[in-house]
Amino acid sequence: MKKIGLIGGMSWESSQIYYKIINEKVHALLGGFHSAKCVMDSVDFAEIEKLQHQNDWKALDEEMVKAAKNLENASAQLLLICTNTMHLCYEAICANTTVPVLHIAVETAKKITAKKCKKVLLLGTQFTMEKDFYKTILKNDFHIDVLVPNEADRKLVHQIIYEELVLGKITSASKKTYIQIIEKAIKNGAEGVILGCTEIPLLIQDNDVAIPTFDTTRIHAESAVSWALQTN
Ligand code: GLU
Repeated sequence: MKKIGLIGGMSWESSQIYYKIINEKVHALLGGFHSAKCVMDSVDFAEIEKLQHQNDWKALDEEMVKAAKNLENASAQLLLICTNTMHLCYEAICANTTVPVLHIAVETAKKITAKKCKKVLLLGTQFTMEKDFYKTILKNDFHIDVLVPNEADRKLVHQIIYEELVLGKITSASKKTYIQIIEKAIKNGAEGVILGCTEIPLLIQDNDVAIPTFDTTRIHAESAVSWALQTN
């Protein structure tokens, strides 16, 4: 079994889910007393969130590279950036480590393709929904049509992530808001919805909506296990 390195803390609410899924999957596949070989470098999200909203991606690249190097020094053999948004630093990390990095959008796109969904709604932070780093992979590499909510709805989705979900606050009002936004996208032809923020699965599950949901936390964590055990 290879050792998985997790860049965590963004937020810790979702990092703990990564840890749980990774261990559950290893146990499901190997049984007995098996658990995952893994190591986490967990950042202080207050520092990250501040730099994100100051749009200081150079400083964020440096923070992510530091975390990746810590994991490399701890003998990690595969790296996961445990957040969709911080894949904005993917290139910087790859350029500064010899350890392979498993991209969350690539793993998600593989699942969407397997489900034969051609048009999907992307929900996440405004960084993820509005910048190109994530949508480009889906569109150019996997030929998936990507819808994002309108501007007012993007603000709402973002606000709920930063003011509630990363703090572990789950409310029925926010759940209703997300469902309404997904329903609008279904009317516009969405065949699936990417829960493209690692905390959204805390709020929305498959049975809440009429189309398949793509839980990026689970997809990313389970792909890492397949890689670590080389069963894929
Ligand atoms: N976990 C979130 C994501 O997947 C948002 C927190 C962050 O900005 O990293 O995008």
